[in-house]
Amino acid sequence: MDIIVAKFGGSSLASAAQFRKVKNIIEADTNRRYIVPSAPGKRFSGDEKVTDLLYKCNALAMAGEDISPVFDIIESRFLEIAKELEITSDIARQLEIVKYSIQNGQSADYAASRGEYLNGILLAAYLGYEFVDAAEVISFDARGAYDAARTYEQLGSRLENIERAVVPGFYGSRIDGSIKTFSRGGSDITGAIVARAVNARLYENWTDVSGFLMADPRIVENPKPIEVITYRELRELSYMGAGVLHEEAIFPVKQAQIPINIRNTNRPQDRGTTIVADAPPHMFDTITGIAGHKGFTAITIDKAMMNSELGFGRRVLKVLEDHGISFEHLPTGIDTMTVVVADSSIDGKLDDVVTDLYRVCKPDSIEITTGLSLIATVGRGMVRQPGTASRLFAALKNSHVNVRMIDQGSSEMNIIVAIETADFNKAIVAIYEAFVQ
Ligand code: ASP
Repeated sequence: MDIIVAKFGGSSLASAAQFRKVKNIIEADTNRRYIVPSAPGKRFSGDEKVTDLLYKCNALAMAGEDISPVFDIIESRFLEIAKELEITSDIARQLEIVKYSIQNGQSADYAASRGEYLNGILLAAYLGYEFVDAAEVISFDARGAYDAARTYEQLGSRLENIERAVVPGFYGSRIDGSIKTFSRGGSDITGAIVARAVNARLYENWTDVSGFLMADPRIVENPKPIEVITYRELRELSYMGAGVLHEEAIFPVKQAQIPINIRNTNRPQDRGTTIVADAPPHMFDTITGIAGHKGFTAITIDKAMMNSELGFGRRVLKVLEDHGISFEHLPTGIDTMTVVVADSSIDGKLDDVVTDLYRVCKPDSIEITTGLSLIATVGRGMVRQPGTASRLFAALKNSHVNVRMIDQGSSEMNIIVAIETADFNKAIVAIYEAFVQ
């Protein structure tokens, strides 16, 4: 069966005008049978997301204060959409129940989830689709962990008998019926779960950008869009900070080999980016994208005959682990080992870590390099293309960027260089220009 599950993000459903666009998109393809909405997001910069307002209401209620001043804003947003689109549903009554429940001690998760819940009711009425409350089909266990087995069973059997439905994103319920949300941005996860449950051909994720670009547009002028990217490539890139899609959304559909298409509600004519399990290398481009991240420190540990000392690496990593620090990269030489860590994880602990490394590992010396940035150049086409590395390093050399460290990911689709943060933008532009004509 040719089913498309379409998830619409907060900005796609922030106002009546956005609802109209969404309806046009859904009606343009009859396979768009299951729709997953977020809560209304920002209509303009400086606007507030309904989810944030709901969290505020919960905080007020917990402090014993009246939530009305904030809840009024939420109420008027939903009522405005309903009025403008002439949606006849009992939204006013629903709002009353939600307000009463938050004011009287319902949990923060309950409060936060109501944005999706109410938006789902409105959207279902507007589209003429059936509303399926996520609390009845998305399950969490008693400890609050997502319960995939139970969820697929419930969702599958429920949606089997419904031709067209709206399932609100972001939340589900525990066995006792209490509401539990995913982490922020979690409607992406719900969409992926629904796609998996109905064995969709495609999971569309509609947002306010036309997919991923090959590089950050604040750094590279007018970068090319990425048409097709594999899950692994995306992981290599998103890990470096490209988050359009919630990372956890990938797992449910990846297993089932369902492609994800990131689309722009405001530019439905754009094809967006499709994320797939496997794809042939792009015909013209060797690389798929470039992503960088600032704020790293390298700890370089030297010790003669390190290569033959049993357990040396484990002892180094154990010291880091004991301080609660995870490492990003681990380039090694015969007598050196460098641990690259994010500043955010080592700030305030560096001196203690170095002291412990001397005590536990007895190195000849330890050198610290701060102010580093990492740039990942990623592409499934790299493996088969001789000269990729030389092209990259020539570009950096010609731009006078000093490369401090090199790590060709063992996935062979990734070259990571560490450079000084002052060279960050220059390096990304140089790499982009070397590979993209
Ligand atoms: N509305 C929720 C949030 O703001 C979930 C989502 O939009 O995906 O995080």
